[in-house]
Amino acid sequence: MSKEISTQVVVLGAGPAGYSAAFRAADLGLDTVIIERFDTLGGVCLNVGCIPSKALLHVAKVIEEAKAVADHGVVFGEPKIDLDKLRSFKEKVVGQLTGGLGGMSKMRKVDVVNGFGKFTGPNTIEVQGADGVTVVNFEHAIIAAGSRPIQLPFIPHDDPRIWDSTDALELKEVPGKLLVMGGGIIGLEMGTVYSSLGTDIDVVEMFDQVIPAADKDVVRIFTKQIKKKFNLILQTKVTAVEAKEDGIYVTMEGKKAPAEPVRYDAVLVAIGRTPNGKSLDAEKAGINVDERGFINVDKQMRTNVNNIFAIGDIVGQPMLAHKGVHEGHVAAEVISGLKHFFDPKVIPSIAYTDPEVAWVGLTEKEAKEQDIAYETASFPWAASGRAIASDASEGMTKLIFDKETHRVIGGAIVGVNGGELLGEIGLAIEMGCDAEDLALTIHAHPTLHESVGLAAEVYEGSITDLP
Ligand code: FAD
Repeated sequence: MSKEISTQVVVLGAGPAGYSAAFRAADLGLDTVIIERFDTLGGVCLNVGCIPSKALLHVAKVIEEAKAVADHGVVFGEPKIDLDKLRSFKEKVVGQLTGGLGGMSKMRKVDVVNGFGKFTGPNTIEVQGADGVTVVNFEHAIIAAGSRPIQLPFIPHDDPRIWDSTDALELKEVPGKLLVMGGGIIGLEMGTVYSSLGTDIDVVEMFDQVIPAADKDVVRIFTKQIKKKFNLILQTKVTAVEAKEDGIYVTMEGKKAPAEPVRYDAVLVAIGRTPNGKSLDAEKAGINVDERGFINVDKQMRTNVNNIFAIGDIVGQPMLAHKGVHEGHVAAEVISGLKHFFDPKVIPSIAYTDPEVAWVGLTEKEAKEQDIAYETASFPWAASGRAIASDASEGMTKLIFDKETHRVIGGAIVGVNGGELLGEIGLAIEMGCDAEDLALTIHAHPTLHESVGLAAEVYEGSITDLP
């Protein structure tokens, strides 16, 4: 069975980038259709990414906090994990949010066509759904088809004990021993969850630090903490993975590589994500897709084809939901005739680990690469009343300033709730604040965000007696 519809705007993919673009387009009065191959809206982020991982990290945090208060005279005893109930909690959170998106699209009269969409020309996409083909004729298209986990040819990915992040989020079992391949954000977040559930975890990372994008001093504080729960194998890579009946045997090479293959109950491959650009027959619409599957766009999110835009993970790094949302708004507004550009000064990055690692704007590494004269100031949480009172003194708030203007150009926080505290630094950079602006802003006491003002005071020279 085949049917045909026509619309002003079609959005291919219903992740954060796609639904944000579709909703904005509809709000601006454009006829809008979303094509999504899965039954629910929300893409990777809501279904198998940001949201389910944070639900599980919330539980992991409660477990760790309950353990930690034993040192202060309150003993809860060993946690009993009911995996089915935990999975239901995660699914309820996901369902609430994806269901909400369904309601929001209905309210806006955005039609959802379920199925796998491919271009057949510069104004048509053919969608293969469970109940037949739908041909969507469009004036404008926005490609928001996202990304998927990278797989390696020497890894038997079809073995159920070899996981990607989606498998890890399914929470089918709590393995005795898990190898997390890749010390980036996704691997460490999932490692944090499983460690709290009782799994013994090794993390193998090619670089000499985990979270390679963050500055060394920030990661040092983080590493000191996570070494208590993970065995970190740095400057080492996996060279062979063999699935045997009694476990997955992993061979590693490098500075810290074990001499013999190591047996694991499961292996989580978290070595990055790759864009879905090659599965869309984009060439039939004349769209250039690079050899990795990314689609190049200009600052208005327009591809090389005038009526076709692209947003989200598929247009490049950083592959983050909030970046895609803003790009989606730009694309929709440009299509509606408004003048809008994607030109943010900063896009924040956060590892929702324990403790959290968060940074925004330039890192020192980037400032050096870009030959920018900079200075830094840090406030250690060992000097923060709130951090000490909350048993969270292993943290730091760091600011990076332009040496000449003293404007904030970057910042990082490692510590409990670091991600929540980062907002002030992002705003400071966007607004062009200098050290004095932050130092003179009265921050409430005792709070953790006070540390942002105090780091600026350190830079101004008004605090000198730090531990
Ligand atoms: P996606 O979310 O990938 O959505 C693309 C959609 O397009 C999918 O629903 C897909 O089914 C659909 N699609 C693709 N091709 C077709 C086709 N041909 N036809 C029909 N439909 C198609 N980011 C953060 O900012 N914060 C976090 O805390 C965070 N945590 C994460 C945790 C994990 C475990 C993972 C895996 C990712 C996480 N991310 C996080 C990244 C975030 O999920 C992505 O950056 C975000 O989802 C990208 O949004 P998108 O709209 O570009 O694409």
